[in-house]
Amino acid sequence: MSSELPAQRGVDRPQRSRPGSVPPDVLGPVAGPPGEPAFDADHPPRRDLIDDCVHCGFCLPTCPTYVLWGEEMDSPRGRIYLMEEGLDGEPLSPSMVRHFDRCLGCMACVTACPSGVRYDRLIEDTRQQVERRHPRPRRERLLRTAIFQVFPYPRRLRLLRGPLRAYQASGLRQLVRRSGLAARLAPTLATLESLAPTLGRPARLPARLPAYGRRRARVGMLTGCVQRAFLPDVNAATARVLAAEGCEVVILPDRQGCCGALSVHNGRAEEARRFARALIDVFDAAGLDRFVVNAAGCGSSLKEYGELLRDDPAYAERAAAFAAKVRDLAELLVELGPVARRYPLPVTVAYHDACHLAHAQGVRAQPRELLRAIPGLELREIADPEICCGSAGVWNVLNPEPAAQLGERKARDVLATGAELLVTANPGCLMQVAAAVGRLGGRVALAHTAQVLDASIRARPVTDLVP
Ligand code: SF4
Ligand code: SF4
Repeated sequence: MSSELPAQRGVDRPQRSRPGSVPPDVLGPVAGPPGEPAFDADHPPRRDLIDDCVHCGFCLPTCPTYVLWGEEMDSPRGRIYLMEEGLDGEPLSPSMVRHFDRCLGCMACVTACPSGVRYDRLIEDTRQQVERRHPRPRRERLLRTAIFQVFPYPRRLRLLRGPLRAYQASGLRQLVRRSGLAARLAPTLATLESLAPTLGRPARLPARLPAYGRRRARVGMLTGCVQRAFLPDVNAATARVLAAEGCEVVILPDRQGCCGALSVHNGRAEEARRFARALIDVFDAAGLDRFVVNAAGCGSSLKEYGELLRDDPAYAERAAAFAAKVRDLAELLVELGPVARRYPLPVTVAYHDACHLAHAQGVRAQPRELLRAIPGLELREIADPEICCGSAGVWNVLNPEPAAQLGERKARDVLATGAELLVTANPGCLMQVAAAVGRLGGRVALAHTAQVLDASIRARPVTDLVP
């Protein structure tokens, strides 16, 4: 662990933060429903799961908000304590909401917990209570509305491509960044601007890609929202790798929409259920053996479809069956075993564990195994791999300042490896770390695992990945 970590606090029942010791409030003061208990009867955080926590504190050093601020109530243990207070009848106070909102949902605490506490379930139920019951201030409401009216809609995101490409090509980008004006006047916009990758030509995906050689599986493929609009090369590489490994790939890009991950991670359960039902309807009749996902956050949500739609009699069974077929790309490729030849790629690679792949899905070994199997590729480990890079869906947009701090911490650890190429399996992490590396004036190329495998299978020169 890094020496920057604060000393672990007491191991007994946690104490509330002292007034004045809480980090700057990024959301402003809000009014909760006065006097009402924090949670209603519609899936509050479960007391039996809360009772599993023995307050040992082992999770604290892996929690990014505790690492940043050293505040008990910004740790998993503190948040569980607040959930218990809510169940005991305490109202949903502004400070309670603030501590829940500050959780990145990275699930590092789930990995670290020796008692098997299902913090993932607890925070998901808590967030949907907060979203339904807590009136947010106007500015924040508008920002969240804007985010959720755009991000989960690939067609709306696609409309942003043109103006963004023109802006990037005009040279205005460098000017805006150098002046630092945007960061001072509109930090949220500046964050979005800094995260946007340099856009190339959009890649068009076919409805179906046949397997190369003997067909070994028929798989569906999620194209995602941000990934499809801003990192289309990742989807193209994923489809080619799958086909090269003997998969018939069913993509249906014009019919599939958002998987609901962004919504479910932000407590918008009904919206998430709508997206989930639509995706199941599109792929259910396709006769798939597996459904492949190349974005960690989406994969972890898709694997929970059974849970998300458990109360829907028309979809509960279909959702559970669909979820059982979901695999991360690396997971499926290892499950199948390689048939396509790997050509050498002489490059040093630092592999970054996306939280929703490592902590939420337990997929750590497979991407490393796939990368190590490429001749000439040298794999290097990043220090403190369990600490989130600060991306966390839209957390970096809602909390630009602490997200930038976490991004730069990760970027420093990445640069310390001396690797030429950073590889990860989540669009959010790619954009977050790229922006942070840029701010530090460092240099490292970035790629998704699929792009590295694709380059090796197609015998592309390493300069395709590290220009
Ligand atoms: S999910 Fe991440 S940010 Fe939230 S409490 Fe757990 S470790 Fe901390
Ligand atoms: S969540 Fe787990 S690791 Fe954290 S304090 Fe509770 S029992 Fe300990």
